[in-house]
Amino acid sequence: MPRQKFIAGNWKMYTTLEQARELARSVAAGVDAETARRLRVAVCPPFPWLLPVGEVLRNTPVALGAQDCHYEREGAFTGQVSPYMLREAGCQYVIIGHSERRHGLQESDEFLNKKLHGALRAGLHVIFCIGELLSEREAGQTESVLLRQLQNGLAGLTAEQAAALTIAYEPVWAIGTGRVATEEQAQQAHAFIRAQIAERFGSTAADSITIQYGGSVKPENAAGLLRQPDVDGCLVGGASLKADSFLAIVRAA
Ligand code: PGA
Repeated sequence: MPRQKFIAGNWKMYTTLEQARELARSVAAGVDAETARRLRVAVCPPFPWLLPVGEVLRNTPVALGAQDCHYEREGAFTGQVSPYMLREAGCQYVIIGHSERRHGLQESDEFLNKKLHGALRAGLHVIFCIGELLSEREAGQTESVLLRQLQNGLAGLTAEQAAALTIAYEPVWAIGTGRVATEEQAQQAHAFIRAQIAERFGSTAADSITIQYGGSVKPENAAGLLRQPDVDGCLVGGASLKADSFLAIVRAA
């Protein structure tokens, strides 16, 4: 069975409440029933907008996701948000390991692995981000970096959990830079990731896992990326903040 494409918008720390509601309304209005049957669409607003945006998305084909979570159910963790709280707030998805947290906030593979398990325990679908820095690509280390992030990041997962996971391959040099990976670079990295999943979790998991590309995805380059056999969708940052651009990427899938 062919894998269903999955397009997710990462709104990062953008939008006012009113902009968030309006963006969600426009995205939901632009995803018709036929598109919703064919692919999955989600948006990931900032934490305080999850409930109001969830309200707007109720009974629409667009799912709600968060951009991060803690690994514990509850506790003395000032400023953190539990994955169970996200579930209760209506989230189906959570992004874990975004490079802006790995590199901006020094979140380690081991820490991200704890979050992954915490999110799965809470019943969330995880979009787990990996990707190399420009210096690592230039030093020929792309595959060894991806391998380390997969080995440590996905430690302790069962084959069933791996099969249901979404991995977002996001080369750090392509995020927010306008410098998108070429179709060949994306396909090569995705094929490598899928081969590693096959090795660790078996061919059923490798065939089922969703591997999104992220990093300067725009309406102009989405179709070419999405045509690659191992590119199962996109994690869209900047272009997800405009309904027209995001919907054009959805239509390209
Ligand atoms: P971008 O961000 O599309 O703005 O490059 C992608 C991401 O950070 O997920």
